[in-house]
Formats: sequence, C-alpha cells, structure tokens
Amino acid sequence: MIIFVAVNKRDYIIVGLGLAGIAFCEALEKAGKSYLVFDKGLDGASSVAAGLYNPVILKRYTLPWKAIEQFDLAIPYYQNLEKKLGINFMTEMPVRKVFSSVEDQNNWFAASDKPLLERFVFPKLVGNENEYIKAPYAYGEVQETGRVAIKKLQEHYQKYLASKDAYLNESFIHSNIAFTENTVIYNEYEASRIVFAEGYGVKQNPFFSALPLVGNKGEYVIIKASKLNLSAAIKTSFFVVPLGDDLYKVGATFNWTDKDTSPSEEARDELIEKMATLLSCDYEIVDQVAGMRPTTGDRRALLGIHPKYKQLALLNGLGTRGIMASPLLAQYLFNHLENGKELLDEIDIKRVLSKL
Ligand SMILES: Cc1cc2nc3c(=O)[nH]c(=O)nc-3n(C[C@H](O)[C@H](O)[C@H](O)COP(=O)(O)OP(=O)(O)OC[C@H]3O[C@@H](n4cnc5c(N)ncnc54)[C@H](O)[C@@H]3O)c2cc1C
Repeated sequence: MIIFVAVNKRDYIIVGLGLAGIAFCEALEKAGKSYLVFDKGLDGASSVAAGLYNPVILKRYTLPWKAIEQFDLAIPYYQNLEKKLGINFMTEMPVRKVFSSVEDQNNWFAASDKPLLERFVFPKLVGNENEYIKAPYAYGEVQETGRVAIKKLQEHYQKYLASKDAYLNESFIHSNIAFTENTVIYNEYEASRIVFAEGYGVKQNPFFSALPLVGNKGEYVIIKASKLNLSAAIKTSFFVVPLGDDLYKVGATFNWTDKDTSPSEEARDELIEKMATLLSCDYEIVDQVAGMRPTTGDRRALLGIHPKYKQLALLNGLGTRGIMASPLLAQYLFNHLENGKELLDEIDIKRVLSKL
C-alpha cells in the first residue's frame, strides 16, 4: 500500500510564472486563496516579449477578441501590481504606424471613424521629424498604448512570492502527481487543484500536450543606436521598441515551423534586411532573443478542466497579446473553477477535447 505524506496544504498549485501564472495568482489573492507556484526559470514567451500593449490590430484595423473588456481590466490591473510590488514597470508609449502610401493613410482615416476603434485611432497624421527614420508618408498614432517591462514584473513577482513562501524555482515533474479523490499530492504538497500556465511548455505536460497549441516562434534583435533618439514605438512590418539607454528591441519574426527556442541566424538576417528599409543610422546588434508564442489555430485561448482529472486545469493559448489577455482569461478560469461559471465556448478546451 502506498502512503502519501503531504504536510503542506494549499488551495492551488500553479505551474508557470509567465503572464498567465501571475494573473491567476492575482485572482487567487483577491479571493484569499492559498497557493504555491513552480517555475523552472522564467524562460517562456513572457520574458522575451517586447511588452507592448496596443488594442488595435494594425494590419487589419480591427480589435482583438473582447478587446475593450481586456483593455479596461488590464490597465488598472498592471497599475495595481506596480503599487503592490512598489516598482514601476509600465511606460506610456505611443505606437506609430508608418504609412507606405496615400491609400494607407486613407485606410487609417476610415478606421478612425469606426465605432470602438475611434477611441484608439488618432484621426490626424503625425509627421516624421526623425532624419534617421524613412517614413515619407508620415505616421498614424494609436492612443492609450504603452509598454510593460514584463521580465522586471516577473522577477519582482517571483521575489514577492518567495517572501511569502509561495514560490519554488524548479521544474514541475508531471509524473510525480498523485491523485486522491478530491485533491492532488505533489511531493510534500497537497492542493485541491493544479493550474497549468506553462505556455509552450505544455508540450511536455502529458495531461494536456495533445491539445492543439501550435506555437509560433518569435525573435528580436536588440540594437544600440545612439543617434536614433526615439521615444515612440514604430510599427511597419515589424516593431522598433525603445528600451532606454539608446537600446531598441527590433522584431519580432513569426515562424510556425521552427520549434527550437534558441535564436537563429535566419531571423537575424531577416531583421537586418527589414531594418534597412526603415533606419538610416548606424546601429550595433548587442543581443538576440527568441521565444515561442503560445498560439492556437483558431486564435483563441485554451481554458478548462481536464475531462478525466477534475483537479487539473489549464490556462494557456494567450497567443500574441498576452499582456492584455491574461487578466481577463485568469478571471474567467477562476470563476469557472470556484463559482462553476461556464466558460465561453470559444475559449473552453471542450471544443478540442477529442484531441486528448
Ligand atoms: C517574440 C515575442 C514577442 C511578443 N510580444 C508581445 C507583446 O509585445 N505584447 C504582448 O502582449 N504579447 C507579446 N507576446 C506574447 C506573450 O509573450 C504571450 O502571450 C505570453 O507571454 C504568454 O504567457 P504565458 O504565461 O502563457 O506563457 P510563458 O510566458 O511562456 O510562461 C510559461 C512559464 O512556465 C514555466 N514552465 C513551463 N513548464 C514548466 C514546468 N514543467 N515546470 C516549471 N515551470 C514551467 C516557464 O519557465 C515559463 O516561465 C510575444 C511573444 C513572443 C514570443
């Protein structure tokens, strides 16, 4: 007979401290629930992302799924986190789209008239006064945009959790889970539920790896350009995002086939070629980073409870816009797990359960 000795009880175990894990911790804290987080080294998409929040899809001039709900929840959520952690990780920063033609400008004006978009799409052209940027057709500016320094947030959140004995910097080994009727036991810990917020790491999770999380690799180069002097993020077919100290994150690439998370020469060459179309100043590439966006074929998140093990839940599929999506998705999952509120069909893993 196997006897499990769990000495340390929590309401929840959370695996992953990316944007999804942090948002779920916050939902639990609000409700006074206890939890323990495992993360093997903050090496997911969140730590790589440039951290822009921008409610407008600039390719199509549309808003993402539930954009207004996401946005109106996310901004105060991050502001409160800044206060709680006693740090500053949010910077308001205009996002300027480079126009490539008069037709492009006209499409912008049309977008600025559309309901919901008019809040964000500034209805005037913004001239380019930077001699090192090639933008002869001027810019369109999105309003209420900015940047979250996600890695800084993660590192401080990790310290905050460690100070209350709620963080373990180690790999979670799925095969060590033991099930009782209503709880899970993991080493010396017992919890009512485990929430997996592993991003693309879910591919190593035997309970959920078969779900259709595709993963899209993205890479940035970080350049030092002392003459560029930008305070806005610039968007063409890629972004140039000011980081301070003359450093800029440039990218990202999109690659559906390469599943290796290390930086590649191919992406670096692609970005160098693209930069030549926009920048006319000297720069030096000082770093390159790569990460896997946790994306799905239908561009919707994957939330829900495992069909066989009711103690296991999933918070994944945040896609390309995790900053805005994570607080709302975490709230949906929390309400589902704690209050039995049905998940919206389009984000519920029930839509893809035949894959498990
Ligand atoms: C190049 C790039 C640029 C992006 N730019 C933006 C942007 O500007 N704005 C925006 O909103 N979004 C952006 N995104 C998307 C955003 O990064 C993601 O939507 C979001 O970070 C996903 O968060 P997550 O918590 O689900 O996953 P992750 O951030 O990947 O976090 C998962 C965590 O789980 C941990 N983990 C996994 N398995 C285990 C295990 N077995 N044991 C312990 N720990 C484990 C990992 O260490 C990791 O820290 C970008 C993504 C990429 C790749």
